[in-house]
Amino acid sequence: MTQETGGFAAFNLNPNILAAVTATGYEEPSAIQQQSIPIIMAGHDMIGQAQTGTGKTAAFALPILHRIDPAKREPQALILAPTRELALQVATAFETYAKQMPGVTVVAVYGGAPMGPQLKAIRNGAQIVVATPGRLCDHLRRDEKVLATVNHLVLDEADEMLKLGFMDDLEVIFKALPATRQTVLFSATLPQSIRAIAERHLRDPQHVKIQTKTQTVTAIEQAHLLVHADQKTSAVLSLLEVEDFDALIMFVRTKQATLDLASALEAKGYKAAALNGDIAQNQRERVIDSLKDGRLDIVVATDVAARGLDVPRITHVFNVDMPYDPESYVHRIGRTGRAGREGRALLLVTPRERRMLQVIERVTGQKVAEVRLPDAQAVLDARIKKLTNSLSPLVAEAESTHGDLLDRLTADIGCSPRALAAALLRKATNGQALNLAAIEKERPLVPNNAPRGDRPERSGDRPERSDRERRAPMPLGEGRARCRTALGARDGIAAKNLLGAILNEGGLAREAIGRIQVRDSFSLVELPEDGLEKLLTKLKDTRVAGKQLKLRRYRED
Ligand code: AMP
Repeated sequence: MTQETGGFAAFNLNPNILAAVTATGYEEPSAIQQQSIPIIMAGHDMIGQAQTGTGKTAAFALPILHRIDPAKREPQALILAPTRELALQVATAFETYAKQMPGVTVVAVYGGAPMGPQLKAIRNGAQIVVATPGRLCDHLRRDEKVLATVNHLVLDEADEMLKLGFMDDLEVIFKALPATRQTVLFSATLPQSIRAIAERHLRDPQHVKIQTKTQTVTAIEQAHLLVHADQKTSAVLSLLEVEDFDALIMFVRTKQATLDLASALEAKGYKAAALNGDIAQNQRERVIDSLKDGRLDIVVATDVAARGLDVPRITHVFNVDMPYDPESYVHRIGRTGRAGREGRALLLVTPRERRMLQVIERVTGQKVAEVRLPDAQAVLDARIKKLTNSLSPLVAEAESTHGDLLDRLTADIGCSPRALAAALLRKATNGQALNLAAIEKERPLVPNNAPRGDRPERSGDRPERSDRERRAPMPLGEGRARCRTALGARDGIAAKNLLGAILNEGGLAREAIGRIQVRDSFSLVELPEDGLEKLLTKLKDTRVAGKQLKLRRYRED
């Protein structure tokens, strides 16, 4: 076991859960996990004040999984979430953490998908039910005993549930649950209405709140960029073009992410390396020494691995994944601006994490300005500036050392000095795009496509793409087949409806479903090639938004 899983190992969770957490690549528990897991494992009721981004889902999912009995095929834990996006996200998290617990199944119950399969999954013995209150009440109206065996209840984002008007539904649900159950409530804020619920429905709850002391950050210029989770690498590459950095540290959440991002950077020619808890101490020291002396310019690290890292050359910190709390943010960006120098910190924010950004701004007492991705002109200017900087120190001497050679070559080739200089530039820049049209063509992201609305971050809800891309089908993932349905946006279908229906009725794990593209009059879904015919038969009678799905294999040719 690595030193880092020691953090999770100390909880004494069921070894199968610990193994799944290790496989996920988490190195140590976040602050909310550190405090909540022992309390929930011990069976206490709890009120946790935390928002998205703090790791709150695992804070309740891990101990709840620990407390259920996989041998009992009946609902044992109920998680209530305000929206179906969050319900699906929580259900997926449970599936990930329960991956090595044979016999444990999870069902997501929410509106907009047929009720029958949801009820069937519950009756078939799903131990974990993740539901939105409205749809769950519909089920209760059909079968008031459906929750009779549940002995753990989690209210996730309780304040949001009340804002959406679920108060009455919650009361109905409380009544349908055994009085002896354990109840855990998570909420970003604790207004009077939430306290009243806690008073009535929780027994001796323990309170967990991550203390946020005001922090001061000086000499560091901070900015944030709104981006969808699946665009982070492209965004990082674009930003690197225009940021004038000496050495840079990037923070991500998992070991795998350190490896993935470091290799994407290396592939683009940056001197980059990963730093995570799996890397042996002596190798870690080598990486840090290389960053110090310029053999490396970028290190992609997890919080754990970057502990104590002090490299005066660091001019920039990129928070590619959001930190769990403001303290950690302040700690991370403190890696730059060392020894009285100025530093710059950039934070990538996905739509669901905007609240965390506000908390960071409140705690640090500073506004973190928004920046956009650089446009093609900015990239061109930056590339030319780099070229100018690399050539200008040479010109003074080069004429005396290489001037005669130039004369000889122009004579031999029979060209002008301008033509020869152009040829040399072409060679020196190694095919790099150095005009606007070429840069436009190579750019994976357009600068103004940052997410504005509060779109859910699911892969089904991809951000807008250019018209050209929108028409062309995406390249197909390995082992996947593309399927088509005649239902599209004009039928009122969104990607999440398709995802929900296929998850529920196909009995697939979330990861098994690839990209979903919804067009006006049809939609495309990537499904596993393996077992596809069986799956399509299973989905034969599935209806979405009241219409037959009729999913078929789609051949592009
Ligand atoms: P949440 O606040 O529950 O929405 O979690 C935010 C993100 O943090 C999710 O992508 C989780 O997978 C990730 N996460 C949760 N706990 C940890 C941890 N201990 N280490 C690394 N990543 C984590």
